[in-house]
Amino acid sequence: MSGGGKLKASVESYEKEMTVALGDMISIPAISPESGGEGEWDRAEFLESLLKENGITSIERCDAPDRAAKKGRRPNVIATIGSGGKALWVISHMDTVPAGDRGLWKTDPFKPVVKGGKIYGRGSEDNGQSLIASIFAARAALESGEVASVKLAIVADEELGSAKGITYVASRNKFSKGDEFLVPDAGSRTGDEIEIAEKHSLWARVRTKGAQTHASTPNTGINAKVASSRFLVFVRDYLYSRYGRRDDLFQPVPYSTFEPTKQQANVDNVNTIPGTDEFYIDCRILPSYSLPAILADIRGIAEVFSRQTGATITVEAFRKSIAAKPTSRDSVISVKVAEAVRKVRGIEPRFVGIGGGTCANIVRARGFQAAVWSTEDGMAHQPNEYSIIRNMVGDAGVMAAMFAA
Ligand SMILES: [Zn+2]
Repeated sequence: MSGGGKLKASVESYEKEMTVALGDMISIPAISPESGGEGEWDRAEFLESLLKENGITSIERCDAPDRAAKKGRRPNVIATIGSGGKALWVISHMDTVPAGDRGLWKTDPFKPVVKGGKIYGRGSEDNGQSLIASIFAARAALESGEVASVKLAIVADEELGSAKGITYVASRNKFSKGDEFLVPDAGSRTGDEIEIAEKHSLWARVRTKGAQTHASTPNTGINAKVASSRFLVFVRDYLYSRYGRRDDLFQPVPYSTFEPTKQQANVDNVNTIPGTDEFYIDCRILPSYSLPAILADIRGIAEVFSRQTGATITVEAFRKSIAAKPTSRDSVISVKVAEAVRKVRGIEPRFVGIGGGTCANIVRARGFQAAVWSTEDGMAHQPNEYSIIRNMVGDAGVMAAMFAA
């Protein structure tokens, strides 16, 4: 067998162990304190022993302090295989979002169920599938005896912005000039998309203050709901037409989006005119636009509507992320991922940009080249989240080919 064929065969032979490992991981919740969990401590301990069981013994911790979390730490695990030259980092995250509405789950989100070639549970696809794939790919490369310098970064806090995850790791100077990054945390169903660019994202919070009154005497108050609704409809249409540029790198949505989403509850009864209103706009903006300029524009419109309606409409950036410079298609990492996908999968990948945000943006902002790639069914954050076991094993084969350079 060729080197590549041998690697693929050993990854295939791990399928059962990989399924068990993913299941075991799912049964240890890793939800951030801000979302009502205790953090990732227990899951990190489990993953450290899983790494060791698989022959990966060079393990370092880079835990971020967090008083709200178990042991006062948000664990980040860095495992090294191979040495010499620039490192290839694989960043996967161990934290998950909460289960969400339990009534929508057909099984217990924290008790893995294997059925029909899938494994069900919270965090199975996001990001457990790739995390487990990276560990077994490292084992295959180690066992083959030909291994490049690879670092697996298994990080915390991705779901809420990564301050105590990959951003913390980066701040401890763990990366060296010329290191390259694979972030297997987004992808298409066939594994044919390599993401090299992300949009800016802005979650704008819009608060409207009017004057509450009895619904039978609207003349004595200012209906915040009406003022807010007028603003909402206008600002959405305005943003879509004013910032309507297209960039076909971004798929499936090649333009910026501006969508009103969460609505805060207001009055409890039908016969009161609400004096306040609060909603959010989720904006995903092409990197060629300026996010601060768009925010200023939204605020300018809010002022106009405040004058027109007599209410006070204020807009804040509840959360924002500036898109870093995209990774080049010709970068070492882009070429490496594309070659491995071609060789192991026999498909021709294409380069894309996406509207979601991943850890890749954080390392790109520090001047590194990063590609986002995996094979997934888009189950992140959904009820009845699952991972297709074949995707996990197939992706491990592609990663092993990259590791065995
Ligand atoms: Zn994720």
